[in-house]
Amino acid sequence: MPPTPAVPKVKLSPRGTARLKTGHVWVYRSDIIYADDIPPGSLVTVSDPRGKPLGTALYSTSSQIAVRMLSADPIADLSSLLRQRIANAIAYREALVRDTNAYRVVFSEADFLPGLIVDRYNDILSLQVLTQGIDANQTRETVLSELTQHMHPASVLERVDPRVRELESLAPRASGLLQGERTSTTFTMNSVQFHFDALEGQKTGAFLDQRENYAAATQYAHGDALDVFCYQGGFALHLAPHCSNVTGVDSSRPALEVADKNATLNGRDIEWIEANAFDLLKDYASSNRRYDTIMLDPPAFAKTKRDLEAALRGYKELNLRALKMLRPGGILVTCSCSYHVSQSNFLEMLANAALDAHRTLRLIEVRGQAKDHPILLNVPETAYLKCVIASVS
Ligand code: SAH
Repeated sequence: MPPTPAVPKVKLSPRGTARLKTGHVWVYRSDIIYADDIPPGSLVTVSDPRGKPLGTALYSTSSQIAVRMLSADPIADLSSLLRQRIANAIAYREALVRDTNAYRVVFSEADFLPGLIVDRYNDILSLQVLTQGIDANQTRETVLSELTQHMHPASVLERVDPRVRELESLAPRASGLLQGERTSTTFTMNSVQFHFDALEGQKTGAFLDQRENYAAATQYAHGDALDVFCYQGGFALHLAPHCSNVTGVDSSRPALEVADKNATLNGRDIEWIEANAFDLLKDYASSNRRYDTIMLDPPAFAKTKRDLEAALRGYKELNLRALKMLRPGGILVTCSCSYHVSQSNFLEMLANAALDAHRTLRLIEVRGQAKDHPILLNVPETAYLKCVIASVS
């Protein structure tokens, strides 16, 4: 038998070692004191400064996150480890996810598969490859075959973010079908139906992480409702059966076109307005419009830590205006998907907005992302979504 090729070695600084000892799974390039001449995406053995092994990882030659840990032990057979982890991720959803045929099947680090994201939309799987390690041909084949074997999708699509491939020094690649032919379908969550078309509009799919928050919001929503940053109508469609009027606002026309098709699919009458949310809220607040329920679900304002102050100002402006427009007893559902805005930052911003608006907020629920987007307690970056439901007086 030919000798098995040696696994390349990476030696960490004391700081990198200390980080792994906290249970984190990333090591930054600046915390590497020695690396063999390692090909992109290789499996590597990681050790402390004295050479004591810390485990096995996937290596990136390009990203600032050079090492993503896979195991505290040596890995003899990467393919079978990946297969086992995909099977475990599928079983985790089978145990915890209810009332939907659309959910995240694999959530990268939180499923011990760093760099791989897989979403299910009914009979279509949509896959994202975020690292050199997962992009390796054999790994792609393993992932595809294991997913297909368990889930029997009509098709599997890959969604490519060109910026991610550039950061990982990976050759450009187009989004498209990896298997099968179907590119559109409908899916159901909490008994609400949605269109999914992978090749049209914003290729984002749905915001699956809000699924449980949609259901929570329906318990309190009433009267006249305004869904700001509505995208394809996730909140608006859920609220429609519980409210007398629902208006959705978004700056993206393609998103609103799908929202409108979704309303028809569910037999709902919802008004869609294409507008900049900041301008619209300013106009509406100054013209004394009033609502009983307002949802705010803006895109991530803080993409990096440096944006935090500016992001909090943006969130405060939106929340302040919404608070001014809510009738007494009104419901505010307000979200942030910026990892860099912590839950306490967000609540403090909200408290300040309430003071400035001369309103009192009572917290009904402080929520996060749906269970199919698990949070690894020792990897804070896996927790990013905040969703606060409050009663306003
Ligand atoms: N609530 C949605 C997800 C919102 S994602 C759901 O549950 O499905 C954020 C949305 O904000 C996107 O649809 C984007 O088009 C929209 N957006 C971004 N900037 C905007 C702005 N300034 N005004 C209005 N909409 C904006």
